[in-house]
Amino acid sequence: MKASIVLLPGDGIGPEIVREAWRTLEAVAARFGHVFTMEERPIGGGAIDAFGDPLPQSTLDACRDADAILLGAVGGPKWDDPNAKTRPEAGLLSIRKELGLFANLRPITTHRQLVAASPLRPDIIDGVDILFFRELTGGIYFGKSERSDDGLTASSTMTYSTPEIERIVRLAADAARGRRGKLTSVDKANVLEVSRHWRRVAADVVSTDYPDLDYEVVLVDAMAMHLLSRPRDFDVVVTGNMFGDILTDEASMLPGSLGMLPSASLGSDGPGLYEPIHGSAPDIAGKNVANPLATILAAAMALRHSLNLEIEASTVETAVDQVLDDGLRTGDIAAGGPTVSTSEMGDAVARYVAGT
Ligand code: NAD
Repeated sequence: MKASIVLLPGDGIGPEIVREAWRTLEAVAARFGHVFTMEERPIGGGAIDAFGDPLPQSTLDACRDADAILLGAVGGPKWDDPNAKTRPEAGLLSIRKELGLFANLRPITTHRQLVAASPLRPDIIDGVDILFFRELTGGIYFGKSERSDDGLTASSTMTYSTPEIERIVRLAADAARGRRGKLTSVDKANVLEVSRHWRRVAADVVSTDYPDLDYEVVLVDAMAMHLLSRPRDFDVVVTGNMFGDILTDEASMLPGSLGMLPSASLGSDGPGLYEPIHGSAPDIAGKNVANPLATILAAAMALRHSLNLEIEASTVETAVDQVLDDGLRTGDIAAGGPTVSTSEMGDAVARYVAGT
């Protein structure tokens, strides 16, 4: 297959980790006979420095034309001035909005080799494999917000329309069908009218088009507890913007390191945006010590969700497992033991992907 992938390295460790994901994708292309055209474009702080804009029009145009977009991370102390006209993170918000990326997918998988890195007991987290679908462009973060004239009262409104709920529930239900067949919808229907609407619409979608799924609803406060006490019981979880924001950050602690977790943001059509969940880690930038595996796993998600290349995606995920089996660890997952550099880790993954 021929595919075009835009690489947005961004700031801090972004260029170092995206370089390793690029090498992984090159190895996939060589092994499976694909042609991936990969071009780099500026975003974030570097783009502000060069163009005065965290998302230059030329970057946005290239992204619109691509099959998939792979992002490193944006931001850093250089661009933290609160009086600045714009900030690196504005580039991220703009690209999500411009491309209509309404679904944020965050897989939470614990690697058996790293269970000791988790703050939770191994018997609780061993084997956790959850795929979160967080609604990304609606809900309270985008609802009407106001402050009273006397400054004593403020409000933010959570609104969801039927189509907004239907499209994210459908994506999550499709994914559940391809996994273990279980779907959990999380809401706060005992208190919020908007959640009662969410629950009704989600139930309609599932009973009409996905009756084969094992479907359950869980209140968000209970879900916060279940994630820590019985995370293995969940397969695909779908929820709104704010609940998803909080629950996915809670869940990201299960595997123990930010450096292992990828995410994807998808729209109804057009390219998906794939990135690690961590930031630009300015404290370790330029030292060749960052963990590239989250970004490499984000590239695997791009192969699966945007290019429909399931075998290739699994090959990358297996290669990551193999390097962990071999005992390779960057500093963040080494627990004080011996470490490898960013590029050594990327080398090892690319070699396994290439089958050499
Ligand atoms: P961060 O995720 O960049 O770093 C938190 C800690 O984790 C740091 O100690 C860092 O060294 C470590 N870390 C992160 N990724 C790592 C990796 N791959 N390998 C090894 N260690 C890793 O969060 P922060 O320090 O709060 O933010 C730094 C900058 O990143 C800020 O400017 C913030 O706005 C930005 N940020 C960007 C994104 C994004 O681009 N999507 C997300 C979060 C934060």
